[in-house]
Amino acid sequence: MRALLNLTAETAARYLENLEDRSVAPSPEALVGLTELNEPLPELPMDAGCVLEMLDRIGSPATMGMAGRRYFGFVIGGSLPAALAANWLAGAWDQCPGLFAASPIGTVLEEVSLIWLLDALKLPAGSGGAFVTGATVANLTALAAARHAVLARHGWDVDADGLFGAPPITVVVGDEVHPSLIKALGMLGLGRSRVVRVPVDGQGRMLAAEMPPLSGPAIVCLQAGNVNTGAFDPAAEICVRAHLAGAWVHVDGAFGLWAASSPKYAHLVKGVADADSWATDAHKWLNVPYDSGLAFVRNAAALKSAMSLTAAYLPQGGHREPSQYTPELSRRARGVEIWAALKSLGRSGLADLIERNCRLARRFAEALEQGGCEILNEVVLNQVLVSFGDAARTRQVIERVQRDGTCWCGPTEWQGRTAMRISVSSWATRDEDVERSVAAILRAAVM
Ligand SMILES: *Cc1c(COP(=O)(O)O)cnc(C)c1O
Repeated sequence: MRALLNLTAETAARYLENLEDRSVAPSPEALVGLTELNEPLPELPMDAGCVLEMLDRIGSPATMGMAGRRYFGFVIGGSLPAALAANWLAGAWDQCPGLFAASPIGTVLEEVSLIWLLDALKLPAGSGGAFVTGATVANLTALAAARHAVLARHGWDVDADGLFGAPPITVVVGDEVHPSLIKALGMLGLGRSRVVRVPVDGQGRMLAAEMPPLSGPAIVCLQAGNVNTGAFDPAAEICVRAHLAGAWVHVDGAFGLWAASSPKYAHLVKGVADADSWATDAHKWLNVPYDSGLAFVRNAAALKSAMSLTAAYLPQGGHREPSQYTPELSRRARGVEIWAALKSLGRSGLADLIERNCRLARRFAEALEQGGCEILNEVVLNQVLVSFGDAARTRQVIERVQRDGTCWCGPTEWQGRTAMRISVSSWATRDEDVERSVAAILRAAVM
């Protein structure tokens, strides 16, 4: 085992070092090499070291350089050194933290992390929390608690009796809602299409004045950090109005919620803590390895009602039993990396990570604008939308940027315009990476 793990550490370290010199996107040859994986199920065993060597030989060149310093696609984030190291140790531990009895360390690290996270994100202490796969499932988990609570207020026990015959729930979203939230609503039986969509402004912010009057069971879904522009819905105003009507307010803050941890950007999340539930990702801006999402619910009892699991063979002790708060029973111990990330950063390191990424995003926008490109959004956070002209030309430039390999940025559509989206989300990105990437993008744009 020791020889294998040492070989793995060497292989992984070499992989990360090589990322600096190779194209961020895998080469066409590397992708062709993947065909070697198309073989029938092997009849005979293979030595574990050989399995790893094969994986590295075929797999490593075919990876997207997401762990490197110049990957700006989607909203991805790298892995902090302490988080990656903790992830390896957690793999060796192989803990299942569904119950304290099953994994004391796995559950305690979640308990501690939950307190730290609520503190760092400026959310109400004592809120319930669930450690899940990502913001999609975090939205699902928090909205299940919302569904439970708004129907309970109207005398209906949805967890026991289901939705058939229940009073209808009004669900309000902004028109630029993330598709994963709509998917979560569909999975909860609240419908992908029966939502009330509120118009938004040019940055994707919900227009508070356009909110419909609410009555009966209602859930209002806000966004903290639009996936294209980084913009925030006016949470303070909407929370007041929604709560006066007895509605539940949920916030999808997959990456934007982390702005709360920086004194410089905390103004963006004004009013967000007044909501009733929040979803975010740790694998995005906290820079822990995939997969890692978080749901927080002010009324922990509502979350527990929606997620509770009881069976005589599953001992419930005096501790917080994680499986009472998550969709899953068995799962990996995500608190390990989250704890390690927060322990290694501290409050100041986390604020520095957020502020550095936001500063580098502004640097991208300024340099590209000077280079003659059009910036389509107000760069308030870590997201930059760049246009190189009409849709066809913008797509062509994006393709050239990806083929050049210095950096990787993807396309998006923003309110009828095609754009290149730059998301600065990794601890590893430095000023020189922005300079090199800007040069590569401008080269692609003048070709
Ligand atoms: C990324 C993102 C999601 C989905 O998160 P996953 O971790 O991919 O499930 C939801 N909402 C917003 C605003 C996002 O940026």
